[in-house]
Amino acid sequence: MDDKLAPETLAIRSGIHRTQFEEHSEAMFLTSSFVYTSAEQAAARFTGAEPGNIYARFTNPTVTAFQERLAALEGAERCVATASGMSAILATVMGLLSAGDHIVASRALFGSTVQLLSNILGRFGIETTYVSATDMAEWKAAVKANTKLFFLESPSNPLTEICDIRAIADLAHASNALLVVDNCFCTPILQRPLELGADIVVHSATKYIDGQGRVLGGAVLGGEKMLEGVYGFLRTAGPTLSAFNAWVLLKGLETLKIRMDAHSANALELAKWLEAHPNVQRVLYPGLASHPQHTLAMQQQKTGGGIVAFEVKGGKDAAWKVVNNTQLLSITANLGDVKTTITHPATTTHGRLTQEQRDAAGVSDGLLRVAVGLENIDDIKRDLARGLD
Ligand SMILES: *Cc1c(COP(=O)(O)O)cnc(C)c1O
Repeated sequence: MDDKLAPETLAIRSGIHRTQFEEHSEAMFLTSSFVYTSAEQAAARFTGAEPGNIYARFTNPTVTAFQERLAALEGAERCVATASGMSAILATVMGLLSAGDHIVASRALFGSTVQLLSNILGRFGIETTYVSATDMAEWKAAVKANTKLFFLESPSNPLTEICDIRAIADLAHASNALLVVDNCFCTPILQRPLELGADIVVHSATKYIDGQGRVLGGAVLGGEKMLEGVYGFLRTAGPTLSAFNAWVLLKGLETLKIRMDAHSANALELAKWLEAHPNVQRVLYPGLASHPQHTLAMQQQKTGGGIVAFEVKGGKDAAWKVVNNTQLLSITANLGDVKTTITHPATTTHGRLTQEQRDAAGVSDGLLRVAVGLENIDDIKRDLARGLD
């Protein structure tokens, strides 16, 4: 295809391989295996002499279509789809690292990512050192002779801290390591980490890529060669994306651009409104000029994204009052949905941390996180105002 196509066009037009029936919408191939015309063809497929599908743990045409479409959007040579965001991260580490290797990771990561790196991969001899998302000196000081991977999310959850992707990529490369960026919060519509020097992008497609809270999915994106081991792990170990989920995600990608623009516009307006509210202590949103890293955020992201964090005056009781007085917003830890969600991190996503750990992470008792959806912004404000006023 024309390589000058805009993202919204790629999101709709790439990865299409019509069948003999000339269907307009992408076909869904609900089949676990594929047949051959002869013993010769079967043998050629298995040796790899002839490309083609064998078994859905290896490839499936609907999954392949999703991979091609997401690769086009991220500007990646290759994409391998996975059953969930967590299996994308697992496959990345299993495909690239061995026992005895070391990871430097941002402290501000998705909770299950920390569990995976520390409690599971740690048992297999892969060690992780956590550093401040925003302090380059800490990243530098954590590098060891056996450091193979740097891992970050930007913006972080829930405090929307911004990692300097280019600076961290440069440090990783100077240390003979690779940089992996979890691009779940921005999607390629708002941020393209590979262009900023990252080697690999991982996604939880469960969030904005689906966009309507229907299925789990994930993806790993990067260079053709680099992903060979990641794909090798997946086709052997099996946490591959199902054809049905791939089809839902293909449809999700088609509207990703207009949804991300609308999420961002709603989030910015909500952030400004919250900042002016007398019962709000502070608002953390990368699109606000008051965000400590606003300039960096606007260099590496197109907008501030769809997630707004804010601290209410009055601690936990005041925060819970806001949550409990909502009638419209969904009280859930999920995000990236057309439905706006509200979370009290200190007692949910970060509830298992000790008070000291929460203090160190900046997750105060008054902190709330809103993943702003696509409802009318005045309705969202009114719903929050009930508990805030
Ligand atoms: C949800 C999420 C994940 C994990 O994805 P699943 O699809 O739930 O496995 C990883 N990283 C981030 C930033 C997430 O928000």
